[in-house]
Amino acid sequence: MPLIRETFLAHDSSDPLRSFRDEFILPDGVIYLDGNSLGAMPRVARQRIETLVSKEWAQDLITSWNTNGWFDLPTRIGAKIARLIGARDDEVLVTDSTGINLYKLLSMALDLRPDRKVILMEGSNFPTDNYIAQGLVRQLGRGHEVRFAERDNFAAHITPEIAVVALTQVHYKTGHVYDMNEITERTHKAGALMCWDLCHSAGALPVDLGAAKADFAVGCGYKYLNGGPGAPAFLYAAKRHLDKAIQPLTGWWSHDDPFAFEHDYRPARDIRQLMSGTQPILSLGALETGIDMMLRADMTLIREKSMALGDMFIALMSEYCAEYGFSLISPKEATIRGSQVAFSHPHGYAIMKALIEARIIGDFRAPDIMRFGLTPLYTRYQDVWDAVQGIKAVMDRKLWQNPRFATRESVT
Ligand SMILES: *Cc1c(COP(=O)(O)O)cnc(C)c1O
Repeated sequence: MPLIRETFLAHDSSDPLRSFRDEFILPDGVIYLDGNSLGAMPRVARQRIETLVSKEWAQDLITSWNTNGWFDLPTRIGAKIARLIGARDDEVLVTDSTGINLYKLLSMALDLRPDRKVILMEGSNFPTDNYIAQGLVRQLGRGHEVRFAERDNFAAHITPEIAVVALTQVHYKTGHVYDMNEITERTHKAGALMCWDLCHSAGALPVDLGAAKADFAVGCGYKYLNGGPGAPAFLYAAKRHLDKAIQPLTGWWSHDDPFAFEHDYRPARDIRQLMSGTQPILSLGALETGIDMMLRADMTLIREKSMALGDMFIALMSEYCAEYGFSLISPKEATIRGSQVAFSHPHGYAIMKALIEARIIGDFRAPDIMRFGLTPLYTRYQDVWDAVQGIKAVMDRKLWQNPRFATRESVT
């Protein structure tokens, strides 16, 4: 493959997913490589929100709960996400945030393993998961412990002491992918339960929770599912556990008959038991448009293109930017790399700021990591070429040394 821009344009012309890009609103002149943090906006999201606001809210008012199907949105969208992650349609629910959902599921998992006291997690995981587990253990006050291990010897820590393993399938910094079947099987062999965090998996690569026999899972709506800023998250609980444990935030939406307004709590006997209260309908409406689009795309094609984009990014970086001190921290091997490439660099923050000013948008993760998300529904091959040429220009011309790139903003 000759490394010239025309090669990349040619890949775009023959890309079977190329028509999806037109279904997004993307600003002119921007190379957006941050869909792993906030997915781009589907064009139809605007129409959907417009209808939700001016008709369903303004005109139909409270009747919308029935007539416009608001009440069923969490299970209806959950059933759609189920198809993306290999679950049954009655095992997935859209609700709350990833962290809150993890709290609910870990609590159930600990109740299902009353004689065990340890939650095993990856120490370098996206911190909110670990903070939430620590908060749960403190709250329970029953002598539980959150234990941390890292990738190099994670499996060795899955012992018969462990109640639940809670692991993010694709690492948020490096993009490393864990083998879901292998880890789940090992976990079950040790008599423990398995909870997967799919924040960087759902919509990015094929996932089959059913085949892996996973017990629980959580994931994000606003990353690869393009659900919009702060979109509700999803959770999965295998049907076999639903009547054996209940989650602790037992609000009225999780009651067996919410509109009976009974004096005492009675858990819903299906996935609705994992809700708590009234859901954000405008956000659910936006999220559904992202999911509907994702369901029309072939996940095998998405994965193939994602791997190709990543391979090309890495090849171009070593061709054009080898002398500038970037170290690849993502796996070189595409099959164990998620839909992003990440490099560490001692001046990573300032370089990323300079790139963003040049309208090449990735993000920065402390202490020194530059992440570039690759989202096959709208990232083009030419974007990868142009991004690496942009990185080279920022380094050649030392643009990142401008002092205004040195100060940290609150969101990096
Ligand atoms: C993005 C992400 C989250 C986000 O959690 P919120 O509760 O939505 O803020 C959680 N875990 C992982 C692994 C993530 O990548």
